[in-house]
Amino acid sequence: MLLGTGNPLPDPNRAGAATLIKAGARRFLVDAGRGVCMRLAAAGTLPVMLESVLLTHLHSDHICDLNDVITTHWIMSGQPTPLKVFGPAGTGQVVDGALAMLAPDLSYRLAHHADLTWSPEVAVTELTPGVLLDDGDVRVIAAATDHRPVEPTLAFRFEHAGRSIVVAGDTVPCDGLDELCVGADVHVQTVIRQDLVRLVPMQRFVDIIDYHSTVEQAAQTAARAGVATLVLTHQAPTPAPGAAEEWLALARQHFGGNVLFGEDLLEV
Ligand SMILES: [Zn+2]
Ligand SMILES: [Zn+2]
Repeated sequence: MLLGTGNPLPDPNRAGAATLIKAGARRFLVDAGRGVCMRLAAAGTLPVMLESVLLTHLHSDHICDLNDVITTHWIMSGQPTPLKVFGPAGTGQVVDGALAMLAPDLSYRLAHHADLTWSPEVAVTELTPGVLLDDGDVRVIAAATDHRPVEPTLAFRFEHAGRSIVVAGDTVPCDGLDELCVGADVHVQTVIRQDLVRLVPMQRFVDIIDYHSTVEQAAQTAARAGVATLVLTHQAPTPAPGAAEEWLALARQHFGGNVLFGEDLLEV
C-alpha cells in the first residue's frame, strides 16, 4: 500500500515517501517520509506492528518522520522491543542523530511513567546488495540503485506466497534495478516528468532531472524486466488535479502492462 506519494514540496493531500508491504500478517515499512505515522494509522497499522523499517536512501524526504516511528514504536511497546531498521551505509548515523534529538523527550517520559524503564532500542543493519531476509515465508532482496551524488541507494524486492513486489526509491534506470525487477508482479517507482520540470523557472528544481527516472524511463524499466504492474509514485512536479491520465498515457507508450497512478493509500 502506498502510504505517501508526495514529493519534497509540502502538499495538503500527499504525505511523504513511504510504502507499506503486507506479507500475510507481516508488515514492512519502506521509507518514512512526512506524515508516515498518520498514513500508517489510516492503513490500520501502528508502528509496533511493523516487523522492520527499510530505507532506500537517506534523503530527508524519505526519512524525516523516522523519529516519529521510533518514538511511537517505543511508547506503545509493553516491553523492550528493538525496532529493526535496514538501510544503506549512513543509516546508523541518522538513527544516532534522531535518538540524540529525542533525548529530552526520552528523559521526560522515563521520569513520568513508572512502568517505562527502558529507552528506545533501534537495531540498525547497514546493507550491501543481496538477500537480507529469507525465512521460507518472506524473502527480501536489496539491490544497488543510481541516485548519485546520493550514495549508496537501494531498492527492495519482497517475495511471499508466490508474489513479488519491487519498491525502488529515487533512481535513474540501472542494471541493479533491472535485475531486481525481473518478472516481478509489481514495480513501485518514484518518477518525474522532465517536460514539466523544465518549465519551472528555478534551477534548484530543474536539478532533480539528472537523478530521477522519468515516467518514460520507469515504463522502459518495467518493460525490460517483464513486470506485470507498474506503479508511479512520488511524482514531481506535483500533478495537477485530473492529470493522472496524462501521466499514465506517457508510461503506456513504453510499457504494455498494467500502470497505476499512485495516490496516498492506494492498495495494490
Ligand atoms: Zn525523494
Ligand atoms: Zn532522493
